[in-house]
Amino acid sequence: MGKIIVKKLKIKTCHGVNDFEKVKPQPFLFSAEVGCDFAAAAAEDDVALTISYAKVAKLITSVASSKVYDLIETLACRCAEAILDAFPQASDVRMRVDKPHAPVKAKFSSMAVEVYLKRERVFLSLGSSLGDKKAYLDFAVKRLGAEHGITLKKVSSYMETPPYGGVAKNSFLNACAEIETYLPPRVLLSRLQKIEQEGERSRELRWGDRTLDIDIIFYGRQVICDDVLTVPHADYFNRPFVLRPLAQIAPDFLCPLSGKTVAAACAALGNG
Ligand code: ADP
Ligand code: MG
Repeated sequence: MGKIIVKKLKIKTCHGVNDFEKVKPQPFLFSAEVGCDFAAAAAEDDVALTISYAKVAKLITSVASSKVYDLIETLACRCAEAILDAFPQASDVRMRVDKPHAPVKAKFSSMAVEVYLKRERVFLSLGSSLGDKKAYLDFAVKRLGAEHGITLKKVSSYMETPPYGGVAKNSFLNACAEIETYLPPRVLLSRLQKIEQEGERSRELRWGDRTLDIDIIFYGRQVICDDVLTVPHADYFNRPFVLRPLAQIAPDFLCPLSGKTVAAACAALGNG
């Protein structure tokens, strides 16, 4: 792995919360570190095989000049997203925006923000037990494929499964999807919840029957346990309706907690 680095690219443009900043250009400094494997480019000495720093600089200039933002936080995030969108071979990006003339009455060399985005391999469980179940899963797959910041990689077959956990009464149609995303976990969760809502999801009864449920099973190798998210999913290893479709698309993926492959976790469930 290597990094393509653009350091303190100076662009005079308008961003800030104050009205005068929106019309009077001031200098901003943009620094990007783009993770990429350029071993092949170095071996061949071929610019076509790497991420051109000139293209990164042009992209940042275009993002910085095309819209006026209140916050350098927004500016840094939009630049980082644009870089990952434009260069599929980029694994991650660290983006810093300096505002040396920020209107703050103090002596300083710069005010700045930094954001880090990394593409992750994420596995989702999809389920429906109400109405036209196949249509709801098809809708979810289509929406995932169209969502900005998400690349849909694989979808398992749809499997009919019995209700689980004692609250839902209907049989389910379940599937798993592999996506690649740089959206942070909570942002991803809220996008998935939006897709659930568009899939006419109501939230009357937890674990009850639902038109569309989308859960995050794995988010790369990250372990998250807070009031909003538990990843890996708290109960995935007990759920045949998660592990069977998952074993179809990612049998060798290692659970970051148990160290077991998906195939082994699935086999441990037996045939019940
Ligand atoms: P469930 O999927 O458990 O039947 P919901 O879909 O209504 O229930 O989700 C309830 C809450 O579960 C969500 O608001 C979310 O904050 C939380 N949650 C925790 N971990 C996860 C996860 N890995 N994937 C999806 N939601 C999760
Ligand atoms: Mg859910």
